[in-house]
Amino acid sequence: MSNIIAIVGRPNVGKSTLFNRLTESRKAIVDDFSGVTRDRHYGSAEWTNRQFTVIDTGGYVANSEDVFEAAIREQVIIAIEEATVLLFMVDVTTGITDLDDEIAQLLRRSKKPVFTVVNKVDNTQLQNEASVFYGFGLGEIYAISSMTGSGTGDLLDDVIEHFEDIPEDENALPKITIVGRPNVGKSSLINALIGKDRNIVTPIAGTTRDSIHIHYNQFGHEFMFIDTAGLRKKTKVKENIEFYSVMRTIKALEEADVVILMIDAVEGLESQDVNIFHLAEKNKKGILILVNKWDLIEKNSKTVNVFEDQIRQKLQPFTDVPIIFTSVVNKQRIFQAIEGALEVFKNRGKKIPTSKLNDVMLPIIEKYPPPALKGKYIKIKYITQINGTSPMFAFFCNLPQYIKEPYKRFIENKLRENFDFSGVPIQIYFRQK
Ligand code: GDP
Ligand code: GDP
Repeated sequence: MSNIIAIVGRPNVGKSTLFNRLTESRKAIVDDFSGVTRDRHYGSAEWTNRQFTVIDTGGYVANSEDVFEAAIREQVIIAIEEATVLLFMVDVTTGITDLDDEIAQLLRRSKKPVFTVVNKVDNTQLQNEASVFYGFGLGEIYAISSMTGSGTGDLLDDVIEHFEDIPEDENALPKITIVGRPNVGKSSLINALIGKDRNIVTPIAGTTRDSIHIHYNQFGHEFMFIDTAGLRKKTKVKENIEFYSVMRTIKALEEADVVILMIDAVEGLESQDVNIFHLAEKNKKGILILVNKWDLIEKNSKTVNVFEDQIRQKLQPFTDVPIIFTSVVNKQRIFQAIEGALEVFKNRGKKIPTSKLNDVMLPIIEKYPPPALKGKYIKIKYITQINGTSPMFAFFCNLPQYIKEPYKRFIENKLRENFDFSGVPIQIYFRQK
């Protein structure tokens, strides 16, 4: 399921303001815990229970004059190829500029849905002025104010109509993708696992054109690799290499069941890695971390623990994730990596029988009940796991609205202590009964 909204447009029209508005709740959560997400230009958002990824293309353009317009043009082309829906943002206060016209020309060739979003329509007087943008010939226009949020609801209502939902195939092979910054060793790992013989590489036609699916079937393990590492499309503007790879990463991630996040032992976990991690978490994917190039680290008996602690610190609050230290060049622990990923896949599909769940959790809850609020006692009566592609639990109680975040986290920790959900985001709901 890969629904990506790309916001395109020239600088200063308000792209990042809209981006922040759409991904707002997430930002607050992430900033609270890690404080390292300021350079983030993509993120998760939700509208009427539909989840999607938003990417602010402007964030990737360098500030040098000469490459500027070329970079923007190329970004629009990449966005047309990779996104599900394009939001073409313009500014009501400036009217149509030359660069707007150029972008519109590119977008008219897009087969993907394009929404012309006229921003900074902060009041009703400006509403009339928005109509000049019909001049693009791109169909309906949407007058919004990213600052106040006005008009964004109507826009999103129409945007999500264009989303594709690929039904999850219960019997399909596990889909695993390896993501990480350039040069961490992703291609080397795939090559080490499947050999240089790319005969077994079978591009599979489907909704996600361009991503290569590699059927792995060796040593008793069978799964699909979703490979983006091997796909290095040439970009004319070097500033766009990162933008392009981010687009690809997001798509691979949304398609996968389990995401192997590979980092470089020498460089450690950086803010970009944390962003990817949170995106995977928010998309409820299984996650495994590989610390590669472990051969380059000078070690003593404590090194592994120190590394692990540092990484988990940055992943808070979701720290129950396997971390494996590999050296792809020395073929050290690369099969453990695969086994670990398949274990995470299993955990993600795990179903705990209701009786077992209640036998384990109710005594814990009895011993540590949710704190009473306004003199009212909260009684949790029973628990069931809800059907879904990733673990979800419903706790039925008399006053669900009185249960606060710390207690929810306590419950999550207890679930994790008693049932192995390593590498898997779990959701907990308190419901009225
Ligand atoms: P970007 O370069 O396209 O990402 O644009 P920004 O989001 O950085 O916004 C450029 C400027 O426009 C900033 O000063 C914003 O505060 C302002 N801006 C963004 N949205 C609105 C809006 O809806 N109304 C008004 N009046 N200003 C806005
Ligand atoms: P990618 O960009 O993530 O696909 O990274 P590559 O697989 O192209 O690897 C980048 C460089 O790191 C290459 O020169 C590899 O030989 C090297 N490399 C990969 N894995 C290891 C490792 O475990 N140890 C060391 N020392 N180098 C590695």
